[in-house]
Amino acid sequence: MARRHSAVEDQELARRLLGSDGPLYVIEAAWTTGAIASLLWYAAFRCPFCGEFFHWTIWIANPVADACVHCGFRKWRDPHAARSLRR
Ligand SMILES: [Zn+2]
Repeated sequence: MARRHSAVEDQELARRLLGSDGPLYVIEAAWTTGAIASLLWYAAFRCPFCGEFFHWTIWIANPVADACVHCGFRKWRDPHAARSLRR
């Protein structure tokens, strides 16, 4: 049965594996930067149909939206086919 580790135990383990605290801070900084960058990357996704931000407007922010909050274009649809069907 797997035992849960505390954050202090994880830090101690990382210190033992890496030899000192220095690399740990570098890894933590890289991880945090990567996490924030991936959030910004996700938030910057543009609707392939209307070109506006897919997940948010000034008033609405829906990170799990399955349709564009501007035009209602559904997730996974082909924008070229949708455009040719538009009247
Ligand atoms: Zn749209």
